[in-house]
Amino acid sequence: MTRPLNSHLADIAASGIRRFTALAAQTPGCISLALGEPGETTAAHIRAAVAAELDAGNTHYPPNAGFPYLREDIAAWEGVRGVPAQADQVFVTVGATEAIAAAFATALEPGDEVVVFAPLYLVYRQLAALFGARPVLVDTAPSGYQVDRTALEAAITPRTKLIVVTSPNNPTGCIYTPESLDIIAEVALEHDLYVLSDDIYSELVYTQGYRRFLAANPDLAERTFVVNGFSKSWAMTGWRLGWLVAPPAIAPEVAKVHQCLVSSVPAFLQRAASTALATPTDDLCTIYRHRRDIVEEALDGMGVAHAPLDGAFYAFIDISCFGMTDEEFCLRAISEAGVALVPGSCFSAPGYARISYACSDDDLIEAMARLARFAGTLGRTGN
Ligand code: PLP
Repeated sequence: MTRPLNSHLADIAASGIRRFTALAAQTPGCISLALGEPGETTAAHIRAAVAAELDAGNTHYPPNAGFPYLREDIAAWEGVRGVPAQADQVFVTVGATEAIAAAFATALEPGDEVVVFAPLYLVYRQLAALFGARPVLVDTAPSGYQVDRTALEAAITPRTKLIVVTSPNNPTGCIYTPESLDIIAEVALEHDLYVLSDDIYSELVYTQGYRRFLAANPDLAERTFVVNGFSKSWAMTGWRLGWLVAPPAIAPEVAKVHQCLVSSVPAFLQRAASTALATPTDDLCTIYRHRRDIVEEALDGMGVAHAPLDGAFYAFIDISCFGMTDEEFCLRAISEAGVALVPGSCFSAPGYARISYACSDDDLIEAMARLARFAGTLGRTGN
């Protein structure tokens, strides 16, 4: 075949996270701090709900947007966490990934621009490109991983359609301050923009002062898509379950997109999703807070600069002092230390590396000790 494929695919790079995860798997004894997924298995009572649904013969097409009980449960869950939502605004999606895709496909036209704060979760960039939109990056590193009004305003053009907000953030692990959220809200209102608030890590926060974007700015409800999901807070990455809360007037359009993309998520998983929502996430949060402390203490002991470890399960470290590229640092960390990290370049942030501390305590303690020994063997520049 010589006919050209979708030209937007040329703008989509393969996942560096998967590449480094695969390299770790090929290296005997390597501890992977690369993949952003809880090491824990989903709780037994959530798993049991699937078996019960299958036994009951729930094997037919469900309603496209999800069973009404689950949409009600999600709306209620959002409501008590500051995001008022009616069930008919809620779409049960194939992970948060499909929620982002559905929001983008609903809002974006080819040529539109999407503002994404960098360091960034690559999927926003890839999905924007897939829909023919242009991701415009605003670097937050110079402003302590917070939003700088001048930098954000400089990125806005007449083609800007949407701003992506991710707090807690992947890959930085930071939360946005109320001031950062206010700047985004003001700019979105002033320029008549949509906002996508990716709240997938909303239950994994270890510091004070966290507000979800829409909870802090309820007057933006008519222009804000809220993304969340089961993957991180309930250790359900493999289930591929998430949700999207669409602005009320836009929900009928999202319904068309969701139908085209996937029609629906598996019928017999939805009762388990509802069971998960009724399950407190405090225990997992406590586990990760402890791992956060392990990582922070180890990094500070090594004298490696890092972003504030506010939430999610990521530490974002500045490796520029080691006098090599982030790619080289991470390759050497695998081969010389037996620890896999992800280079910052995979998040449009060269000179940094991401640690995912979602593995077991024992692996984490050992991995940080190995990293400390590795760092000790390297020369340092500039400090
Ligand atoms: N949004 C962010 C910020 C993420 O970090 C991830 C996964 O790492 C996702 C969305 C995708 O989540 P899911 O696995 O539910 O599709």
